[in-house]
Amino acid sequence: MKPLKLLNFAESQWVQGQGNLVDLPSALTGETIASTGSGGLDFKAMLDHARKVGGPALRKLTFHERAHMLKALANAIMARKEELYALNYDTGATRNDGWIDIEGGAGTLFSFSSKGRRELPNGRVLIDGAMEPLSRGGTFVGQHVFTPLQGVAVHINAFNFPVWGMLEKLGPTLLAGVPAIVKPASATAWLAEAAFRIMIEADVLPPGALQFIAGSTGDLMDHLTCQDVVSFTGSAATAMKLQSHPVIARESVRFIAERDSLNASILGPDAGPGTPEFDLFVKEVAREMTVKAGQKCTAIRRAMAPAEHLDAVQAALAARLAKVTIGDPREEGVTMGALASIDQRNSVREAVAELAKSARIVAGDPDRDFGTGSFLEPILLRSDDPWGSPAIHDVEPFGPVATIMPYRDLDDAIALANRGMGSLALSLFTYDTDAARDFVLGAGAYHGRMVILDRTSAKESTGHGSPLPVLVHGGPGRAGGGEEMGGVRGVAHYMQRTALQSAPEMLAKVIGQWLPGADKPTGDTHPFRLRIAELDVGYTLKTASRTVTLEDVEHFAHFTGDTFYAHMDDEAAKASPIFEGRVAHGYLILSFAAGLFVEPAPGPVLANTGLENLRFQTPLYPGDAMRVELTVKSKSVRDEEKGEVRWAVAIYNQKDEVVATYDLLTMNRP
Ligand code: NAP
Repeated sequence: MKPLKLLNFAESQWVQGQGNLVDLPSALTGETIASTGSGGLDFKAMLDHARKVGGPALRKLTFHERAHMLKALANAIMARKEELYALNYDTGATRNDGWIDIEGGAGTLFSFSSKGRRELPNGRVLIDGAMEPLSRGGTFVGQHVFTPLQGVAVHINAFNFPVWGMLEKLGPTLLAGVPAIVKPASATAWLAEAAFRIMIEADVLPPGALQFIAGSTGDLMDHLTCQDVVSFTGSAATAMKLQSHPVIARESVRFIAERDSLNASILGPDAGPGTPEFDLFVKEVAREMTVKAGQKCTAIRRAMAPAEHLDAVQAALAARLAKVTIGDPREEGVTMGALASIDQRNSVREAVAELAKSARIVAGDPDRDFGTGSFLEPILLRSDDPWGSPAIHDVEPFGPVATIMPYRDLDDAIALANRGMGSLALSLFTYDTDAARDFVLGAGAYHGRMVILDRTSAKESTGHGSPLPVLVHGGPGRAGGGEEMGGVRGVAHYMQRTALQSAPEMLAKVIGQWLPGADKPTGDTHPFRLRIAELDVGYTLKTASRTVTLEDVEHFAHFTGDTFYAHMDDEAAKASPIFEGRVAHGYLILSFAAGLFVEPAPGPVLANTGLENLRFQTPLYPGDAMRVELTVKSKSVRDEEKGEVRWAVAIYNQKDEVVATYDLLTMNRP
């Protein structure tokens, strides 16, 4: 095949890099697959294009509109996934590895799209937490909000997952309304470029939203400002070099670092040979060593077992690894492909040599000659003195390599896991809830994600090594101190949190959500007769009042079976520290509230879908009256057929004391 010429996508144009191009070899044959280079690009102009064209266009869109774009991008990738699978093999990956990268990447975009439509408002400001009252009279309040950064997200990606690594960063960035410049790792850039091209050709993004650098980043870092974010995945050495760039330090440029990590897995003290957890542990360690030829930032590098079970672990692991078939992943029956490049294999061999100074190789031959390509056998090392072998906790072999080691008790295992000085993922295989509790408290501070696996979750578990879009990915210390994804948390990384202080009505208008203390205008039309487009935030229905009688309480108690003492036994109720006598049921009050505010005829309100944040604040006694104020708190159109309205409901007694408050959710016609 004629080598591909990778192009840059700069200032909304595909451009060929000038000057010396770098040849990128196939991991399988060593033949040149593509050439790449970014010579001649004007990096400052690229940043300006993103800031002046892409950013403003993205910020005009609502979260929901951006979420729809993500879905369209994911659909475009899925529709052309076979083109990507065809390019995947020469990165050394099997079809299964490619599935994680390509369909896992599209799945991540789908997930962010869905989160965006379900959990974010159909607006442009993200509200963070509840309103904070700041004054006695309620006329001055505080509210935290997020608004999109007005700069550029510079994404620098690692070579191991060229598609997923790009998309897991783009999902939250674009959802936040921030344009991105993507710089893939050179070693597998042809696959990243193909996926990027599919997204551009899908033509769903505004101009300037995405740009691509197929080579070095030149002087790009020199032109960053406090509105930009560098989101980096790669080695600790490069991260440190970039993080200490004077502009990044001087301008406080946000820097998210996902670095290397000596992830560990612990076989629980209870999980000896013969238990389901033992088998799961062995299977998972072997899987983590061989998926993507061990080139996963989350892969298990250190496997710990009770000293008395270490021999059994070694034997079982060696037997599993012996079944791995290494070779050209296009061939039937091959279960592990090659490392991404000869350079990569060299650095793994060097790491193994370093580890072998204080641990011994018990399975696999690091020097086995495969002829062409960058293949490497899975290597299992064993250290019987884990506290006397610093290298096993410090040196990351970024390939199919792991070290097994013994521990004395769970505290010792936790201390060994923490000795990695910060990791992305830690797992424990146990069926013992006490061990799991000690594990979480003892190790949580050192690890970004912790997985407790046992027989009950074995079938459905996503395993030790899979970062998920809805959970945070990242870890403290050595892992870089960064955090990515985690659903809406990941979106906030590309936004600025600001504390707003003002009058409730002013803030409500600014954020598009009614706040306690803001105006409650009323009108002649019942709000249930209005479609979402006709409903103004703050519009309020004030109902008539009704008296709640003892007969109502009796009837409700016997009708529902809820004869709790507080409603039925006057003496006992009086004896409680809360009530002055028999009280109306909370659920009766809610039911009467619905009876007061509902407009029954079929209309724009399709269904009641939920009720949140319910608080009963003042007891309602037989003979008391109640009335309701129903206020449009926020509204959000989902599609052409429906949307959600959130109503703030307040129930008052005849003394205007608040009896109960809650948010009512309804599905409405738009
Ligand atoms: P690397 O050499 O640090 O490269 C990472 C990225 O940085 C590549 O895109 C690289 O581009 C770029 N880069 C290198 N020097 C640069 C510079 N001076 N300015 C701007 N960009 C620069 O990392 P690697 O060895 O390829 O990747 C493997 C490492 O990544 C492993 O240690 C692994 O643990 C880590 N990793 C971590 C995660 C995570 O989520 N925490 C995920 C995957 C991998 P070029 O390729 O063009 O040099």
